[in-house]
Amino acid sequence: MKTVVISLDPAAPDQQALAEAVRVLRGGGLVAFPTETVYGLGANALDAAAAAGIFAAKGRPANNPLIVHLAEADQVHQVAADWPEPAMRLAQRFWPGPLTLVLPKRATVPDVVTAKGPTVAVRVPAHPLAQALLRAADLPIAAPSANRSTELSPTRAEHVLRSLDGRIDILLDGGPTSGGIESTVLDLTTTPPRVLRPGPIGITELEAEVGSIARGVPPSAETACILPSPGMMPRHYAPRTPLECIEVGKEAERLASLLSAERRIGWVTFAAADEIIVRSEIHLRVLPADPAGYAAQLYAILHELDTAGLDRILVTLPPDTDDWLAVRDRLRRAASN
Ligand code: AMP
Ligand code: MG
Repeated sequence: MKTVVISLDPAAPDQQALAEAVRVLRGGGLVAFPTETVYGLGANALDAAAAAGIFAAKGRPANNPLIVHLAEADQVHQVAADWPEPAMRLAQRFWPGPLTLVLPKRATVPDVVTAKGPTVAVRVPAHPLAQALLRAADLPIAAPSANRSTELSPTRAEHVLRSLDGRIDILLDGGPTSGGIESTVLDLTTTPPRVLRPGPIGITELEAEVGSIARGVPPSAETACILPSPGMMPRHYAPRTPLECIEVGKEAERLASLLSAERRIGWVTFAAADEIIVRSEIHLRVLPADPAGYAAQLYAILHELDTAGLDRILVTLPPDTDDWLAVRDRLRRAASN
């Protein structure tokens, strides 16, 4: 398969290009497109064969369900069997935006989309190009991140190509994404609701709308959602180069010991980390010291270091506080290789 790359201005996308993407989606094909979090790999969510194509292209285990994207909250009834009051409140406050809600599914949603589960994950993305595509297609679009399974999520079109060139029909290039990490996933089918994946929208922001939310992903729920089988390492969001995390202040010692055995080391830290040691063998990248700024650049930096032929990437862990929860979650998974 030849992947057709179409560059579009997100604010004023070419209508003919959009029509071509819609034709492919309606025909059961795969279209990658930018969202405000990361690039998504889209297929018609109501077409089982099309959704199965996503799993094949990504090499994604069948027990990892897909998030269904909608142009607006009014369309939720096409895929969800229930729209409880807290969902309404959260949608009003955070949609369009990087919040995914898990709800009871409608029978019209194919099993392959929900990994045979009784629930469906839905989100209304804010990115203008995602919005334009959803509106033009007039379909719910199932879209996980547009990368091979377990690998780094793509925040630029070139990252999608690196992972999926020749495996998807169309890539809509709308430039770099702004959010940088995947949406917060909130399960509203349990009492209290539970965050299944921390993300750009923090737990305290959610609690301000709907009251108490279960904190921390219990290992059992996490493995049920993400892993192909129990006992596997929770590797996800990972570069191909070995990555390890390190606490602030311990880097100098670790770098010295690494440099005695390995030659090319990448080191990712953030502006507030006190000790920044500059040595020519070290590929140093300093990210912003605020969680949103850091998240926006993290994957692009990891993609870049991952293609630099390094022996190892060392990442200084940001503080263990609520506002860094999502970033720390991704770094932990990136290190599980
Ligand atoms: P990604 O492939 O990066 O887009 O991730 C999709 C995320 O949404 C994964 O963490 C899934 O486990 C999660 N997800 C999707 N559907 C459901 C669902 N019905 N219940 C729980 N988690 C879900
Ligand atoms: Mg993913």
